[in-house]
Amino acid sequence: MIINHGRYNINKRIDLASFNASIVTVGDELLIGQVVNTNAVYLAGELTRIGITVSYTMTVQDDVHAITAAIQDGVKQCDLTIVTGGLGPTPDDLTREAAARFAGVSLYTDPNILEALQHRFALLGRSVPHGSERVASVPEGFETLSNAKGTAPGLLHQTDQGPLVVLLPGVPHEMKSIFSHHVIPRILQSEGRQAMAQRTLNVAGIGETVVQQHIDSITDQLDTDLKIAYLPGIYGVRVRLTIQGEDAELRICQVERRVQQQLGEAIFGCDEDSLQSVLGNLLRDQSMTIAVAESCTGGSVLDHLTNVPGSSDYVLGGVVAYSNSIKKHQLGVNRDALDQFGAVSESVALQMAEGVRDRFGSDVGLSVTGISGPSGGSPEKPVGLVWIGYADQHSSWAVKRQFGNDRAMNKAKSALAVLDLARKALLKRNKEHRGIQ
Ligand code: ATP
Repeated sequence: MIINHGRYNINKRIDLASFNASIVTVGDELLIGQVVNTNAVYLAGELTRIGITVSYTMTVQDDVHAITAAIQDGVKQCDLTIVTGGLGPTPDDLTREAAARFAGVSLYTDPNILEALQHRFALLGRSVPHGSERVASVPEGFETLSNAKGTAPGLLHQTDQGPLVVLLPGVPHEMKSIFSHHVIPRILQSEGRQAMAQRTLNVAGIGETVVQQHIDSITDQLDTDLKIAYLPGIYGVRVRLTIQGEDAELRICQVERRVQQQLGEAIFGCDEDSLQSVLGNLLRDQSMTIAVAESCTGGSVLDHLTNVPGSSDYVLGGVVAYSNSIKKHQLGVNRDALDQFGAVSESVALQMAEGVRDRFGSDVGLSVTGISGPSGGSPEKPVGLVWIGYADQHSSWAVKRQFGNDRAMNKAKSALAVLDLARKALLKRNKEHRGIQ
């Protein structure tokens, strides 16, 4: 580790365990509660993930003095200061000016950024709108970080002795893209970094306490310096495993295997995997197609499925069969089942899954019918009751789930439960094909 006046040079050697960061988010919209500060949450999570301590986050107004002061404070207290927002083309975007003041330099127009801007607009058949060229203005001595998702590049300032200042756009997907492509690698490539490995295992269908009990029961088989964080979600838990020090990557793989053995199929993937992406891969691997009949989820199962790039390989389509009449006429659910058992029943869920499979000609048919609430429940069928149906060439079945009283949560949980049950059904099918018991 090289220390200069108590600071680390990021290009040379840093010890991430003692490397600290501040996050400054800029924007009046954040201070008046108009926009949720997801940038701070994202950056804090990502920095922590690679072992950097986030000392503080702060939010400041669109004001050049406030931003300058925040950068000055950040640099005094931290090795890395990340500022998001205020890099756009409008006059209220003042982060560049503040950064120039902080560094005591002037702004100049970077011809490469200007050219990229002109090229971007030319592709859209338009000329650069008046004022947009402001995004090409760069404080002298700052490095530019290209922005694949938008016009304003990120900016990075580093001195031999001093801490690092990184300026990123406020628009979350642009900020994330620059941060993950340019900033993270820059930090990770630093020499002398203490090795750290992290894995997040994504668990569906069981709660935090149950997952924790499972993992606690194998503690004696896990590394003593393993850090475990439980991050509960709508329909499961993400379990973040972290190991620092020698052989971190090798050891995290061993821990991951052990936890996977313990939790089995409840783990559907790791890191960025989602239920829909994992289900999509299973369908693609088996060259299968899928169609969905949704009642209480109002289309969100298909929304999840089609959010995955390339999902047209296996998603054929679906029906939002909200009314009984649509269930009958579009899916062939018989009137007797509706009259005798009601729309939220095993028989109807089964017929919906078979019906959609049949009408769309898909390999797999899924269905969901439930009582989202707040009204519509009864002692026999309380709010939160959901029936989920599955049909393929070999079998069809329906299962019941009971969620809570909150309508939005019931819809969200039901959609994820459908994806999870389909995933497990395809895993089972896969194993049977391969002759695994
Ligand atoms: P633009 O080119 O849009 O002006 P910018 O870099 O100047 O980008 P801002 O103008 O500060 O960024 O913010 C653009 C949009 O990004 C805001 O309207 C807001 O929706 C979103 N945004 C900004 N900061 C944050 C934040 N901290 N968390 C979540 N969203 C944010």
